[in-house]
Amino acid sequence: MVILKSPSEIEKMRQSNVIVAEILEILRRKVQPGVDTLTLNNIAEKLALARNARPAFKGYRGFPYSLCASVNQQVVHGFPSRHPLKEGDILSMDFGIFHDGYYGDAAVTVPVGKVSELARHLIQITREALFLGIEQAVPGNRLSDISHAIQSHVEAAGLSVVRKFVGHGIGKALHEDPQIPNYGKPGMGIRLKPGMVLAIEPMVNAGGYEVKTLQDGWTTVTEDGSLSAHFEHTVAITEDGPVILSTTDGESVNAQRGTNPV
Ligand code: MG
Repeated sequence: MVILKSPSEIEKMRQSNVIVAEILEILRRKVQPGVDTLTLNNIAEKLALARNARPAFKGYRGFPYSLCASVNQQVVHGFPSRHPLKEGDILSMDFGIFHDGYYGDAAVTVPVGKVSELARHLIQITREALFLGIEQAVPGNRLSDISHAIQSHVEAAGLSVVRKFVGHGIGKALHEDPQIPNYGKPGMGIRLKPGMVLAIEPMVNAGGYEVKTLQDGWTTVTEDGSLSAHFEHTVAITEDGPVILSTTDGESVNAQRGTNPV
């Protein structure tokens, strides 16, 4: 069942998601060769607690950390570690918090120093795919219009969309209905309505779409060892279209697409 949110609930969700966005932005600026991801995890945790927010992932189904830190061929749910990042790596950071009754959730992939052309392409296309998906989050569209926009852009760029993990509704729970695949034919699934709040999160591989989960039960990597990128925003659907909640500056979808952090 999809839970619709009132305007005052969406305002609270904006506050939760702004906390996530602020922290991810601080982490993004700290990413450079020599930094390790456990340090980033600890910074994220401290910053969340200082904002009266509880890191949402720590303890979620037993996940042991606050930040998902996935390097290179790691797709999602990577464990932060003391292993230093090195020039040419790419790092996906997925972070979520719980604040005043509501969850926030967002993810970003950042280059570590100078990266390969392929890595830059992967990051750019994945981010563009997220925004093309968000543009479809308008009342009257069907859920899979989001999925299709993402898949079309990714595959036209010679990359592939991960099937095993999907976006999700979000609110008083971290994961609510509906599930949002990043692939599919347009015009399918539920009709989108004002009040829906969706975490849209394409995961894109440079090689094939197959992934596998490692022995630790969490870390998911590409089957063929190719690089993977992940971007996520929490988005409210309103009468006027999609509003990105997980942003620090309240920019519109189009304004955000125009800025390229890569
Ligand atoms: Mg998510």
